[in-house]
Amino acid sequence: MCGIVGAVAQRDVVPVLLEGLRRLEYRGYDSAGLAVLQGESLGRVRNVGKIHDLQQRLNDNPLEGNVGVAHTRWATHGGVTEANAHPHMSEERLALVHNGIIENYEPLRIKLEAEGFVFTSDTDTEVIAHLLRLNRRTAKSFTEALRQTVADLHGAYAIAAINVDDPGQMLAVRSGSPLVLGVGINEHFVASDAAALLPVTRSFVYLEEGDMAVIDADGYRLFDSAGETVERPVKESKLSADAADKGGYRHHMLKEIFEQPQSVTNTLAER
Ligand code: GLU
Repeated sequence: MCGIVGAVAQRDVVPVLLEGLRRLEYRGYDSAGLAVLQGESLGRVRNVGKIHDLQQRLNDNPLEGNVGVAHTRWATHGGVTEANAHPHMSEERLALVHNGIIENYEPLRIKLEAEGFVFTSDTDTEVIAHLLRLNRRTAKSFTEALRQTVADLHGAYAIAAINVDDPGQMLAVRSGSPLVLGVGINEHFVASDAAALLPVTRSFVYLEEGDMAVIDADGYRLFDSAGETVERPVKESKLSADAADKGGYRHHMLKEIFEQPQSVTNTLAER
């Protein structure tokens, strides 16, 4: 299971997403990508290899948007190819990132192909994108469509999704895979690991098993697995933004070793 970053803001979120992905690099990954809402369409870039190369591709073909999702993938279903990298899209209008494994993706894929959806990857994840898009046709809201979608999924997941037809909004849901909400001022974020969001916020809401978050720039609402509105505590992190990067070291382990004297000093200072 690899990394998720998502953002809804009044500013361009592409730099936030890229920095978030960089902060998740230590977990290992084989490919990466991001997608942003751009008015009536979606902009997406994906790449096999390093975030640095993804950045390079963005330099050549810049993307900009206020709502976006990003992912570092560690392939479980389907090879390491650009077509299998996340975000996955449905009908060019919905984009979604997923950590985990969908065990029943095969019967879902057959059902969705019969509905006319065209698959462009070999992943288990792509069924979620099409199923969500299918459910959105009849559901009264994007949230309701996601609720119906996860009811059909067996497996482990953390998901973040955006849809051209629901502008200004991002949905996130977790079951068996971690997800944290980052609370800012007129901007909100999600990530699979709080470290990804340290440059933009210190206020975090840890989603519990089955929780769903409906997020926009002004705020967020949380629902538990029964669909009931829930409140979860906002926790202030004391980690500094540089806690998650490699500092000038080649590996995180090297950084940890060389930081030991300072860490001991910090721990004892308060006593
Ligand atoms: N099962 C998904 C895939 O193979 C997600 C893998 C992950 O968690 O990175 O694309």
